[in-house]
Formats: sequence, structure tokens, C-alpha cells
Amino acid sequence: MRTIKNLLPIIILLALSGYIYQIYPRLTQTILNVVVFLPIVLMLVVIALSIHFNRSTIFFYAILIAITNFALGQELADTKLSYALLSTLVPLTLLVLTILPERGILSLRAIPTYMTLGLSLTIYLMITSLSPDWSSQFILNDWLPARYFDWTPHSQAVLVIAFTVAISMLVIFFVQPSPNTATGLGVLVLLVIQLHFGYTDSSLNVLSSSALIMCLYAILQESWRMAYLDELTELPARRALREKFQKMGGLYTVAMLDVDHFKKFNDTYGHDTGDAVLRMIANKMNKVTGGGACYRYGGEEFTVVFNGKDREDAKPHLENLRETIANTPFVINRASRRKSDKKIKSKKNKSVKVTVSIGVADSTSNSSTPWDILKLSDKALYRAKGKGRNCVCS
Ligand code: GH3
Ligand code: MG
Ligand code: MG
Repeated sequence: MRTIKNLLPIIILLALSGYIYQIYPRLTQTILNVVVFLPIVLMLVVIALSIHFNRSTIFFYAILIAITNFALGQELADTKLSYALLSTLVPLTLLVLTILPERGILSLRAIPTYMTLGLSLTIYLMITSLSPDWSSQFILNDWLPARYFDWTPHSQAVLVIAFTVAISMLVIFFVQPSPNTATGLGVLVLLVIQLHFGYTDSSLNVLSSSALIMCLYAILQESWRMAYLDELTELPARRALREKFQKMGGLYTVAMLDVDHFKKFNDTYGHDTGDAVLRMIANKMNKVTGGGACYRYGGEEFTVVFNGKDREDAKPHLENLRETIANTPFVINRASRRKSDKKIKSKKNKSVKVTVSIGVADSTSNSSTPWDILKLSDKALYRAKGKGRNCVCS
């Protein structure tokens, strides 16, 4: 699901840029006059936003797109060797930029990234100026008959490297599907195609612009996530709940869920294990039936909203959720146990059970706004705690 969600916009953008590339020669002069400036404008926007939001990977992608565009536009890679080198170093640098973790843009921790760019540039300048024999033999190498490859200016060695980088980027994406890794894949495809077409205006303007739009999309998507999703559990956060409440009317149910004796749990097993429990609970909440929408209200409290259901309709789904959480053993590894947990002497991992209490209220009560209903469900939660916890109260 996450894979498709991240990849779909990239595939749409790739298809769109392929279409615009095709119709480029038929565009009117007025449009072309605008398109010429598009990469520069987009570049400035992406660089400004990535600095503002401190998105270093996207920032360096944009720098690589700029370097490629400049090198092709100025026809710097004018020999077979320099062109093959550029076509090799760009995908390889992109791969390293993707692997390196986000470490800021203007910080000392970003030094490895600057070193990667510097190293690529040094290799390019040294080999193009010295043209050692081994470099031509390696990078311009063809193993198969040349007639199979007359569709591309690239040597077979360059194609193999581009293909290997593409596979590696695909693996990275499937292991860690995110807007960044999806953008990395899209940018790679566009840069490789751009290097294939070389110096044409359409290649430079359309493909660079598309790559930069992908970067822009990744920044916007990431800032949306930061604003609306809770970082720990990845559930929608309070801001998202507030927006949901603004739109709600008619019949609905609001439930408040609170982890039982969580302070003691933290004290016994440590805050990190507590965080892992919150992630496990969020995971179970994501699977709640009956169309309930889940939010992290704050701390160890969560909210579930059922649109179009009264509390009697919603209760079986909440009972199921409570039961699932109570029946899911949570394995605590030995390392995270505190010394205070003296009773546990065995060397094996220990599994504990975590329970939650849930309070429910619906809009059939006299209260008017969703926030009032939430207060009622909070009161019901208080009653659930009073009844001995691990239960649903309305
Ligand atoms: P009760 O059954 O009455 O709800 O008892 P409780 O201990 O859960 O209630 P209380 O409100 O006293 O404690 C809530 C605890 O939740 C306190 C705090 O340490 C913990 N907590 C809140 N947010 C987080 C978080 O993000 N991570 C972790 N690990 N703990 C959190
Ligand atoms: Mg609480
Ligand atoms: Mg609690």
C-alpha cells in the first residue's frame, strides 16, 4: 500500500514528462519561452524549500540535477570518454546520495555528502584530463555485438552501471518506501534518459523540470506528513483530528482510548520499550473494523471516530480492538529491562500483556460539538478506569 502510494505520483510524472517530451517540437513559441526558464525557477524553489525544511537528500538531488543539466547544456562532456564518465558518475552519485542518511545541508555532519560530490567531480576532472588507457578500456567497454546497442549513445559498460544502480535504488525503495526513495528512483530514470538524449533543448528543459517537480512534491509531501502525522506512531495527530472535527456533523461516535498503568510500564521497562508499545497499539488501531478513523490524541491517549454510527454500533468494533490489544503478547528483550525488574531472572525474552481502557460517547447526546462529545467519552474513559480497566464504557 505504502509502496503504491509513494510510487504512483512518480509514475504519473514520468508518463506526463514522456508525453510533453513527445509534443515539445509542436509547442508554440510563447510556451517555449516560458519552458526555457522553468528549470531555473523550479531549481530556486526546490533549493529554497529544501533549505527551509532541512531536507538534505532532496537538496543534493537538486544539485545533481543542476550539475547534469549544466554539463549537458554547456556541452562540457564533448569527448566519448567524458560523456561516458558523466553518464556513469551521475547515477552512481545519486545512489550514494540516497544511501547517505539525512544529515542537514549546512552542518558539519553533511561533510560525507559534500565529499561524495567532490570525489565524483575530482574523478571526472582527473580522468578527462589525463585520459588513462585503462579508463577507456573499462568505461567504453562493449562485450556484446554493437549492433544490438545502436539505439543508445552509451557504451555497454555505462548501461550495466545504470542498470545496477536502478536495481539497487529499487531494492532501497522496496525496503524503505518513502517519498524520498521514490523520488530518487524517478530522478534516476529522468537523469539516465536525459544523458541518453544528450544536448537537446527538450531533453534539458522537460526532463530537468520533471525531476525538479518530483523533488518539490517530495518536500511538500514530507512537510504534510510532519504537520499531520504523529512521528512515533505514524497515526494522524491532533491537528488532523481538529480538521476532521471541523467537517463532522450528523450521527457519529467518538471514543477515547488510554493505555492502562503505562507510567508503571515505563518505569519498569524503560521509555523506549514504552514507545514500542505505543507503536504496537497504533498498528492494531490501524486495523480497527467498522470504518473507525484513528488518531494519536497525545501521550498514551488515542481517539477513534466512527462517522454515521451511534455508540451501540461502534462498541463491538471497539471491544474487538480492546481484545486484540489485550491478547497480543508484547515481547520485551532482556536488554531493555530495568534493574528494578528484579523478579525476572531467566535469560529468555519476557512477554507481557498491555491493556487499554476505552470510553465512548456519540452525537445523540445533547452536546453540540465533536469536542463536547470527546469530553463525554473522556468521562466514560474515567469510568472504565474506575471499573478496573481493560474494558469499554459508554
Ligand atoms: P492509567 O491506567 O490510570 O491510565 O495509568 P497510567 O499510568 O497510564 O496514567 P498516567 O496518565 O499517570 O501516565 C501516563 C504515562 O504515559 C506517563 C508517561 O510517562 C507515559 N507517556 C506519555 N507519552 C508517552 C510516550 O510518547 N512514550 C512513552 N514511552 N511514554 C509516554
Ligand atoms: Mg492518560
Ligand atoms: Mg494511562
